[in-house]
Amino acid sequence: MGHLKSTNKPSRWQNWSDSVRGTPKQIWMPKRDSELIEGIEEHAREGRHMRVVGDGHSFTPLAQTDDVLISLDNLQGIIAVDPDRGTAVVRAGTRLKLLGDQLQKHGVAQENLGDINVQSIAGAISTGTHGTGVRFGSIATQVVGLTLATASGELIRCSETERPDVFKVAQVSLGALGVIVDVTLRVVPAKRLHFVSRRERVDNVLANLDRYKRENSHFEFFWMPYTPWAQVKFLNETDDPPSPGNVFGTLNKIVLENGLYWLLSETARIAPPTSRTISRISALGIASVSETDYSHRLFATPRVVKFQEMEYNIPAEHFPVVLAEIRAVMAREKFNVHFPIECRFVHGDDIWLSPAYQRESAYIAIHMYKGMPYERYFRAIEPIYQQYGGRPHWGKMHTLDAATLAARYPRWDYFRRVRAALDPNGAFLNDYLRRLLDADAPITPATSLYSGESSPAQ
Ligand SMILES: Cc1cc2nc3c(=O)[nH]c(=O)nc-3n(C[C@H](O)[C@H](O)[C@H](O)COP(=O)(O)OP(=O)(O)OC[C@H]3O[C@@H](n4cnc5c(N)ncnc54)[C@H](O)[C@@H]3O)c2cc1C
Repeated sequence: MGHLKSTNKPSRWQNWSDSVRGTPKQIWMPKRDSELIEGIEEHAREGRHMRVVGDGHSFTPLAQTDDVLISLDNLQGIIAVDPDRGTAVVRAGTRLKLLGDQLQKHGVAQENLGDINVQSIAGAISTGTHGTGVRFGSIATQVVGLTLATASGELIRCSETERPDVFKVAQVSLGALGVIVDVTLRVVPAKRLHFVSRRERVDNVLANLDRYKRENSHFEFFWMPYTPWAQVKFLNETDDPPSPGNVFGTLNKIVLENGLYWLLSETARIAPPTSRTISRISALGIASVSETDYSHRLFATPRVVKFQEMEYNIPAEHFPVVLAEIRAVMAREKFNVHFPIECRFVHGDDIWLSPAYQRESAYIAIHMYKGMPYERYFRAIEPIYQQYGGRPHWGKMHTLDAATLAARYPRWDYFRRVRAALDPNGAFLNDYLRRLLDADAPITPATSLYSGESSPAQ
């Protein structure tokens, strides 16, 4: 969304996949922290409603607003790095690519990332964005502290030791508490990774699943629908120097992988019954790659071809059966889809609204090329996730309501209680969040849920 401009006139906004649109009355891009903090309080006092947007890469209407859309594009960059303590304080609007480049100049890096790097750091943590690797949590687990500006003009610094009641809520907050101003990240010494990608029979991948997960720092695979094939990806630390020829490699990724894939995808859109053939062609085109580079450059892949996506977190032990059921439904229903199914594995965490809360997790994502109908496909797969205790990725499409979410998240009411305390007039709620969080319903007394723990914000 690097194209946003400050304006006081109603103007159109849409997210990356165009699944969400809005006409904010104002797009506000403060240039200083003080302007941001004072402006939030002023807007709240005037009864305005605000949503912050990062890079608009969420498929759900989290950032949607017809009032004030706040962008922190003018507030980017690293504030301080402490390599000895292994921490970096970064402005909330900083894009992950810029963050990676700047951290590297200080000889440090984020320990893990997702598969793109265009999101803002605050946007990424707020929806529980994750990468892959059973020894790594989602990106929000790298956060050891943050500063939150609330509707009352308060600036709350929180961490495990300072206002811990707010911290566990603010690490994954859906932007529903206020505006994150800066984030303190745990960082690791800059590292190089060896990246290997190849085509493999999906049955072979499943037979070796535990070993692949255990023996590689980062392992994921993409099953190509209607084929016996998967693309497997492994990333492991190495002392080898970066591979030469990365300019061609990047060009290859953009022009060949994305360009050719776009052509194939357009064919599928124009003639949907060709989807299964196109999936087979794509499977045959999976190249063997072996490449070494700094971690922040290797985690991310350019994503030029647009799509809609649904992704769920499921308990890791249910992964084989969930994938088997998805494959069975696809074989039966023969949806017109050629986009692969992405499978990743993440360490559990202790963040109240993190989909990986208190469980070793697998993520399974389904995609549909933008412009092709996705509803029937997503509607058929979602109940399978549900049956196995699935929790949706907050930034990706799902149909869960507040009652179902409350049953999936032991700390649900605690979250609602802290949110209501920090933003009693709902300055940061939009229609979607109001519904999702059932924000107007009474809140269960927290004591019944949290006896023995620090009590939530009053
Ligand atoms: C092509 C593509 C690839 C993706 N790959 C992955 C992946 O590999 N792994 C994964 O887990 N997800 C992935 N996603 C999902 C994506 O990471 C999340 O939706 C993420 O939240 C988007 O970040 P953003 O900066 O665009 O935030 P936005 O979508 O703009 O906002 C997300 C949320 O963050 C809030 N927010 C933003 N800034 C602030 C702030 N300063 N203070 C408070 N709240 C704030 C917003 O209000 C909103 O609620 C992908 C999405 C796309 C489109």
